Amino acid sequence: MGDILFQNTLTGRKEPFVPLHPGEVRMYTCGPTVYDFAHIGNFRTFVFQDILRRFLRMKGYRILQVMNLTDVDDRIIQNAAAAGVGIREYTEKYIRAFLEDTRTLNIQPPEHLARATDHIDDMVRLIQRLSEKSFTYSSDGSIYFRIAKFPGYGKLSKIDLSGIQAGARVDVDRYEKADARDFALWKAPKPGEYFWETSIGPGRPGWHIECSAMAMKYLGETLDIHTGGVDLIFPHHENEIAQSEAATGKPFARFWLHAEFLLVESEKMSKSLGNFYTLRDLFARGHRPSALRFLLASVPYRRQLNFTMDGLQQAASSVERLRNFVARLKTEKFPAGQSDSMAGRVRQAAADFEKGLEDDVNTAQALAAVFDLVRDVNTAIDRGEFRQGDAPQVLAAMQESDSIFSLLVDEDAAKLRALGFDAAAGPDDVEIEALVAERQAARKRGDYRYADRMREQLAERGIILEDTRDGGVRWKRK
Ligand code: AMP
Ligand code: ZN
Repeated sequence: MGDILFQNTLTGRKEPFVPLHPGEVRMYTCGPTVYDFAHIGNFRTFVFQDILRRFLRMKGYRILQVMNLTDVDDRIIQNAAAAGVGIREYTEKYIRAFLEDTRTLNIQPPEHLARATDHIDDMVRLIQRLSEKSFTYSSDGSIYFRIAKFPGYGKLSKIDLSGIQAGARVDVDRYEKADARDFALWKAPKPGEYFWETSIGPGRPGWHIECSAMAMKYLGETLDIHTGGVDLIFPHHENEIAQSEAATGKPFARFWLHAEFLLVESEKMSKSLGNFYTLRDLFARGHRPSALRFLLASVPYRRQLNFTMDGLQQAASSVERLRNFVARLKTEKFPAGQSDSMAGRVRQAAADFEKGLEDDVNTAQALAAVFDLVRDVNTAIDRGEFRQGDAPQVLAAMQESDSIFSLLVDEDAAKLRALGFDAAAGPDDVEIEALVAERQAARKRGDYRYADRMREQLAERGIILEDTRDGGVRWKRK
């Protein structure tokens, strides 16, 4: 198969990807800041990272992935203080919700999920290392990174540093490009704020040092891939590069992959704009986890994704199309034997699928290969050209594509129930199969009135039954 090409934010080019250590990809993913529930914009980025991970596994690589949980930053400290609780207590609820949401969206867990507050010692040691090399200075108990001393500063975000005053400082974790200044590695405690007593003094880490310390702890000093949303390019990732490379003298991450925004009416979905949906908001309106996963995965990560309820409905229909197709192949009986052309058609689809993903994770192209196959096989079936012996190959190709997209197993109802959305949940496959079997039994004993009533009840819940000539039954969702 072909090379993997990734668009690398660092070089601005599409480049062939080969990991540094043969057979193993080391990847760092900036996780959520757990000061509130994550919204579906955040999950656009997390679903992309999951697809990336699954694709690299499909290509035969072992994955060593670290995702951090930012459980200390400006907003967490403010919110925890306002709520009158400690920061661990404050963030616990949002960490639990985040983990639950990732499971709901079939996002595979990383090998290491690292909480910032469990790694304060690692951050302190990294700051000490930077101090020994004179990249830092102290002011009022806080420690700053001296960006003028790091010549590569700006290489990721391509920021223009002319006009930046040496020694001008910025204390907040998040800031604009216009505020490119020496940034805080370690912040002196303000009255009433939570702090750690350490060998570099009392205080707490800045946001950026968290990721450098945790990435290098688990992945070594040079990582293969670093990912996040485009809003993290500056200042967060620029600062991660400065801190890490200043300390080690080695390249920090070889490939930087940034997911574009999810938008609502042309604006970034964000907490500060108030235009956001959490997973729970959508489930409360009757939407399903699989539809959301499909929608988030269907637009290639470097393109903006405009979120609409219509788009989510269409995504639900696409998932149903895939599931109904697989159910059809499994339940319908076709003439014996094998057709001449089907094996070649399936191979072509598998090759197109892989080629799409190899081209900078082009999920739209990969999904198009799947839906083209579905269309062609349905046509072949309707024309009587499909044979029983063709079914296993087509099903295997569908399974292979599902190792990336993870949509075929219908767990929607069970997941929604687990989250407490009973009413919104339609029947899942297991429940439908049980009801269909019960109706079949009624037909067998001649109780057609009961069988008809069951058919109507299922129709009310969106399930259509078709009795086949051989006395069997096929079902699909409306
Ligand atoms: P945060 O919790 O703010 O650190 O964000 C967690 C992840 O979500 C980061 O990788 C962000 O870049 C990403 N993110 C935030 N807003 C959006 C959005 N509207 N669309 C896509 N990704 C986003
Ligand atoms: Zn980070």
